Amino acid sequence: MKRLFVTKPSMPDYEEYCQEIKALWDTRILTNMASKHNELEQKLADYLKVGGVSLFTNGHLALEHAISSLNLTGEIITTPFTFVSTTNAIVRNGLKPVFCDIDLEDYTIDVKKIEELITPKTSAIIPVHVYGTVCNVYEIEKLAKKYNLKVIYDAAHAFGESIDGQGVGAFGDLSIFSFHATKVYNTVEGGCIAYNGNEKIKQDLIYWKDFGISDSEHVIFKSGNAKMDELRAAMGICNLRHVDEEISKRKRVYDLYKSYLDKINGLKIRKIQDNVISNYAYFPILLDGYKYTRDQLCNKLADNGIYSRKYFYPLTSNFEALKEFDTTKTPIAEYVSDRILCLPMYADLTDEDIAYICESILG
Ligand SMILES: *Cc1c(COP(=O)(O)O)cnc(C)c1O
Repeated sequence: MKRLFVTKPSMPDYEEYCQEIKALWDTRILTNMASKHNELEQKLADYLKVGGVSLFTNGHLALEHAISSLNLTGEIITTPFTFVSTTNAIVRNGLKPVFCDIDLEDYTIDVKKIEELITPKTSAIIPVHVYGTVCNVYEIEKLAKKYNLKVIYDAAHAFGESIDGQGVGAFGDLSIFSFHATKVYNTVEGGCIAYNGNEKIKQDLIYWKDFGISDSEHVIFKSGNAKMDELRAAMGICNLRHVDEEISKRKRVYDLYKSYLDKINGLKIRKIQDNVISNYAYFPILLDGYKYTRDQLCNKLADNGIYSRKYFYPLTSNFEALKEFDTTKTPIAEYVSDRILCLPMYADLTDEDIAYICESILG
């Protein structure tokens, strides 16, 4: 039986990658923010349409360090409908996540419910552009101004997207992207913080990812090691050459899925926002009143060799390690989390694969 996984990492041609890393055998400079690292930072800043980019060893550590670098305190308003990384990054900084409910239509943080959660202890909002659906960045900006809060976007799903012509990473104080193998764009493991600020944040992030060392005799931050090495940066340089093509192939997959699954009773697909250039990162379907429940369909697909994923179930607020922070009610997030299923989504999913998946769903 054919097996279809939920994602399949994009890779450059073997020869292209070998060419990119060849010089490292002469220079023996393999890490510590060397030439490939710095070249990729520059290329990504251009591609993402942001002031600058600081590479990290993965998206999670980018988020942990983004939080550390802004000296946040007390409470952070965030969404429970996300990968556990978002919540753990807050908690690991000694801060309290305050869970805000999500919007029923687009699954991002519900901007109408943020204000009631703000207390004198609130220092920031950490929303997630979940599935690549861009949050209501304009409302969030207004609230942040009004209450003097910082905003860090978890943009792990939103690589390369723009809204009203602006790079998605240009909003908020900082945004983090993940370059994990399973994401739209990868460096095997990797991630970055995107910023639009001054030289100070740029320099601080260099210290933050390198133990807080500012020079050979000074350590100015209590930090660890989160640097990206040259081999991964080289992978990133190669993959960046092909990412536009990957995204257009994903669009084809999205359109084909849509042609099968749109306007089916009890089955809701994700809409692409009118003012957003999407990266087609995920294909979630929501099942309510369909002939199968989410769990039934997930099992049925697995029986046919199709491995869908219950992203995001459970909510992060329901995980054992995070239960103590589950102090607010998020009924919409509960509702969505119990009914959502992400179908296989990657650039070279074939017409036959998609037909097979959709027949399994509809049959
Ligand atoms: C993937 C992901 C992360 C973490 O990124 P890594 O590169 O895997 O560390 C954080 N947040 C969200 C929403 C993600 O999907």
